[in-house]
Amino acid sequence: MGKKVSLVLGCSGQDGALLSLSLLKQNYEVIGTSRKIEKKKVSPINNHSILGIEKDIRVVNCDITNFDEVSYLIEKYKPKEVYNLAAQSSVGKSFDYPKETIKSIVEVTLNLLEVSRQLNYNGNLFFAGSSEVFGNTKSKATIEHKQKPVSPYGIAKQTSFNLVKLYRELHDINCITGILFNHESPLRSKTFVTQKIITEALLCSKDKLHKLKLGNINIERDWGWAEEFVDGFQIMNRSLNLKDQILCTGRKTKLKTFVSIVFEKLNLNWRDHVVVEPNFFRKGEINTSYGDPYPIKNDLNWEAKVNLETIIEKLIEFKINS
Ligand code: NDP
Repeated sequence: MGKKVSLVLGCSGQDGALLSLSLLKQNYEVIGTSRKIEKKKVSPINNHSILGIEKDIRVVNCDITNFDEVSYLIEKYKPKEVYNLAAQSSVGKSFDYPKETIKSIVEVTLNLLEVSRQLNYNGNLFFAGSSEVFGNTKSKATIEHKQKPVSPYGIAKQTSFNLVKLYRELHDINCITGILFNHESPLRSKTFVTQKIITEALLCSKDKLHKLKLGNINIERDWGWAEEFVDGFQIMNRSLNLKDQILCTGRKTKLKTFVSIVFEKLNLNWRDHVVVEPNFFRKGEINTSYGDPYPIKNDLNWEAKVNLETIIEKLIEFKINS
């Protein structure tokens, strides 16, 4: 019998690369899509080289908003599982590029759902949702928590979540959304604040006068470890129970605490280096965002075990050695 095939839309990003590695380890054939690829046997994607999977993953150039291009992939490779991780994934950038953001999330989701409906595709589809759909969370968010997104990105993820639910209920498509709270790894793009903090703190350890400029350091987030999250995607996608779930740690931490742990690990006092820049404050910034980890633990026995201290240690260690 041939290998099981997985199709990963957005395979070049943090989660796409880590998920591909995990699938390859389980002997899946992995087909990934990227907009940046030419016909090559070895993936030129940096995250794939870092993980050593550049020769094992098959990356194809595909306009994933295009019906024919996605149909072709599904018909040619007949994947058992599809993971849609593609997105313009920065909340901040979504204010400057709302059209690109909405297109990359809503149009891609709808296209994949329509392809599945029209081809009677009976494999399993996982969609990467986002905690940004909730806006501020006054308590640990469950799947029933009121959705009040405050950015184009959050609105796109909310629409995508609703489309997935609609196609599941109306057209019997095997599709689910994982609503993801923040999760980190060394592969996270440099534009995210956690990566900025690590990079600049290391500069501070070399130059005592170096300053790290940040916006609101009192925001609270629920940070997890990306490798564990991609395991969660697969557990959800293979479950017979088609149910949207929240993936989170359930622990909320102030950005200020994140910063202080990073500086402490480098034997520095963050107060000597951090400058709070009012220009960096974002209009409509979410103050508190954290989720309830128990429903997915109860239903699927998935939980985020790596704590924030360990995450920070791993991020620093990677940066020092790279
Ligand atoms: P990344 O930004 O690292 O990767 C996103 C992927 O999407 C890339 O592979 C990129 O592929 C593709 N992409 C980017 N812009 C577009 C576009 N305009 N059109 C089509 N494809 C595009 O994201 P992560 O791996 O961190 O996140 C994976 C998913 O999980 C995303 O949907 C994200 O929104 C969601 N998520 C992530 C969280 C996190 O903490 N990491 C938290 C909540 C949700 P290429 O450029 O090669 O075409």
